[in-house]
Amino acid sequence: MNKSKYIFVTGGVTSSLGKGIIAASLAKLLQARGYKATIQKFDPYINVDPGTLNPYEHGECYVTEDGAETDLDLGHYERFLNVPTSQANNVTTGRVYQTVINNERKGVYLGKTVQVIPHITDEIKRRMKILGESGDYDIIITEIGGTVGDIESLPYIESMRQLIWEEGESNSMVIHLTLIPYLAAAGELKTKPTQHSVKSLLELGVQPDVLVCRTEHHLNAEIKRKLALFCNVQNNAVIEARDMSTIYEVPMAMLKEKLDKVVLAKLKLKSTTEPNLEIWEKFLFKLEHPKAEISIALVGKYVELPDAYKSINEAFIHAGAHNECEVKVKYINSELLTHENVSQKLSGFQGILVAPGFGNRGIEGKLVAVKYAREHKVPFFGICLGMQCSVIEFARNVVGLTNAHSLEMDPDTTNAVIDLMEDQKKISNMGGTMRLGSYQCDLVKGSHAAKAYGKIHITERHRHRYEFNNQYKDQIQQAGMTITGTNPDTGLAEIVEVAEHPWFVGVQFHPELKSTVENPHPLFIAFINAAMKMN
Ligand code: GLN
Repeated sequence: MNKSKYIFVTGGVTSSLGKGIIAASLAKLLQARGYKATIQKFDPYINVDPGTLNPYEHGECYVTEDGAETDLDLGHYERFLNVPTSQANNVTTGRVYQTVINNERKGVYLGKTVQVIPHITDEIKRRMKILGESGDYDIIITEIGGTVGDIESLPYIESMRQLIWEEGESNSMVIHLTLIPYLAAAGELKTKPTQHSVKSLLELGVQPDVLVCRTEHHLNAEIKRKLALFCNVQNNAVIEARDMSTIYEVPMAMLKEKLDKVVLAKLKLKSTTEPNLEIWEKFLFKLEHPKAEISIALVGKYVELPDAYKSINEAFIHAGAHNECEVKVKYINSELLTHENVSQKLSGFQGILVAPGFGNRGIEGKLVAVKYAREHKVPFFGICLGMQCSVIEFARNVVGLTNAHSLEMDPDTTNAVIDLMEDQKKISNMGGTMRLGSYQCDLVKGSHAAKAYGKIHITERHRHRYEFNNQYKDQIQQAGMTITGTNPDTGLAEIVEVAEHPWFVGVQFHPELKSTVENPHPLFIAFINAAMKMN
């Protein structure tokens, strides 16, 4: 077993430079050269995990197989690498402090004063090394959230500095992602902000080895040399990262800039074989040469922020490329959707997806969208809350239970077709207590779901508190909505379908979380196929 090597990715000048995409792209290139790489993210906020955050804060909350609620960058890691991540891949300041404080209460520190240095930094280092010490990986890429210079990132930078010192020269390195702004009035690219952010890192004892420079314009040899000279990195270690039309182009752009070779040279790892990116290139070709086009209405309430539905958007990209079809996803604000305007707002779409979500806001608009899709025989895909809405709508308008609702939205309803399970009723803490992570599901042969998956035993990831109420199972099934996926251990309904409809599928789980470039999700493929038939 070889020792893992550590690559750290820090960000300078501004936030939102795309550290996650650069880390995922580098990992992809290393993986394509035969190295086992994984990525972990350290987030400097105090929340223990992003599970309790509103999507407007940090975008979607991504859920791993083992049920960790994590930063959306882990979604990129999985989509690029096609390897599952876990709780160990995402650590927050809240989680670090929680461990240290629990240790202190247990008396672990034997009467010492518990301090940021060494106790917090030691705990960060311990967590930075967990995946490395598992023996499963050659290379661990650690993304440090936030921007260098932030007060809250300081313990992470210090932990990284110590770990680099401990691991030694060719076993660790730092990639600093930075912005090279273009001043239109002067007609010039400016290197000064980068010089300053590298200085901030140096003040903390860290010399970056590679600069990845986000830029809207080409960096010529002169600018690269200037950056190398003033930031004290080798000439070939200044990497240009131009804006791309899709994030999936970034690995190819990094390959062209030889980021992988620079990294392998620094870590004294062989780069003899050329990276095998065949599947990736085929995907890109299909993505860029679609033969058909469809429009899908995504009905939800977090429509102002595209990141709120990140994984759903990416799943459409993967499955669309698979079907050689460009999928245009348009966000429809469910709060503004009514019986009066639904035809006008939803006609012209080949498919309707009702999105996951929490709380009452916008719920009636979602029900209006389900009804429209069901009655007008438009392919319908309901995910999590979207599935629950499809059950409520069916119970109200087909079964005739006019006050049917979810207990989440109406605690007083006498027809809670979506209910809270017994074990959920006792819960008082909201963080980390939903039904989370991977669960088995058995499919009914011949259903749309079984046809899509091509098998009947599947596992999918969950993130919800409420469930289909099996007391209404017979009534609902008799009226024409069938349960085509069931949890074999608990009997909970995981998939519903409307029989008299070209494609109407509601799933209690989140299929979008398992869609990757190499494995587009079967339900997204089938939904797009059904939608393409509407053309
Ligand atoms: N709010 C619903 C529940 O908790 C659905 C959650 C979701 O869509 N992720 O069950």
